Amino acid sequence: MGCVLALFKEVNLVDEALLELDSVSKIFTTGLLGGTRIKAVDNVSMKVYKGEILGILGESGSGKSTIAKLILKILKPTSGKILYRGRDVWSIDNKVYYRRVQGVFQDPYASFNPRRRVLDIFVDTMRNYYAELTSKITEELERALSKVGMNVKDVIGKYSHEFSGGQLQRLSIARALLVKPEAIVADEPVSMVDASTRIDILNIFIDLKEEEGLASIIIGHDLGLASYVSDRVVVLYKGQVVEQGTVNILRDPAHPYTKMLLEAVPRIDYKWTTPLRYQVESVQTRHTTGCVFVNRCPFRLEDKCAKLEPHVVNLGDSQVKCWLYAEK
Ligand code: ADP
Ligand code: MG
Repeated sequence: MGCVLALFKEVNLVDEALLELDSVSKIFTTGLLGGTRIKAVDNVSMKVYKGEILGILGESGSGKSTIAKLILKILKPTSGKILYRGRDVWSIDNKVYYRRVQGVFQDPYASFNPRRRVLDIFVDTMRNYYAELTSKITEELERALSKVGMNVKDVIGKYSHEFSGGQLQRLSIARALLVKPEAIVADEPVSMVDASTRIDILNIFIDLKEEEGLASIIIGHDLGLASYVSDRVVVLYKGQVVEQGTVNILRDPAHPYTKMLLEAVPRIDYKWTTPLRYQVESVQTRHTTGCVFVNRCPFRLEDKCAKLEPHVVNLGDSQVKCWLYAEK
């Protein structure tokens, strides 16, 4: 019996998403009397499994941070559900949820109270989540710090301003690891650190995945970094998922927007051909009907794309929301 149960649990772990967004939208209302509605996240569905890195890629204003805040329960969806192991996150007690799902943010200096020593902040974090602090507290601190390539001696007595941006971002990750989470949501974790340390920080997430099966959602706007760190990728444009699939979609994209992102990456071996004419458009331009990318798309189908919203087409390794594939 025990054996059967164990087997069932194994199967469940493989099938069940750790985190799932099910048709999630977030509308902000601003202006006098809430006159302006901004659909920051528009009917987004995605899943994250144990032990994988999901990259969320999109330019500024595409809704990435809003998605991070929704997953971290900082914002509530206007519609749709966010599930953690099949349960609506809003039905889970915050303390329980944050022991499972932690966040790392873009600006590491804003993540630490400048008036407190970093190690005191760490101890507070542990006190917050565990009823009693174990005698193993130093061991726990060393464990979390060693995962980010640091140790207690590097940190003892120091305030956040005494660290570089890169070191402080490592410390943000270490703080998240103190509670031994199953998943970390990292919103642009390397965009404010030196280019030379970006890969080292991304490698921490890869090591945590490989050594501990930690799942991460890593949000970014850099296609090169996203393709380096991710197992699967979600490409966002104006709050909508235009393409998602294995990381291969960043090498061999289907959606015209993903193609545009790839063409924008400077390459030493690039053979110059006539560039495609992608029009420029602000992501703030409101989307009314049809495809979100229609105004910029060099492949637009005149009869369709501006009028009708494309449905999602399954291409095997990827799903793409584009009329070019709907007919095939
Ligand atoms: P990204 O992180 O991809 O740059 P955001 O999620 O921050 O994008 O923003 C998506 C859209 O939502 C933008 O148009 C932004 O101006 C708008 N937005 C974000 N937060 C708010 C808010 N609190 N109130 C009103 N509009 C917001
Ligand atoms: Mg953002």
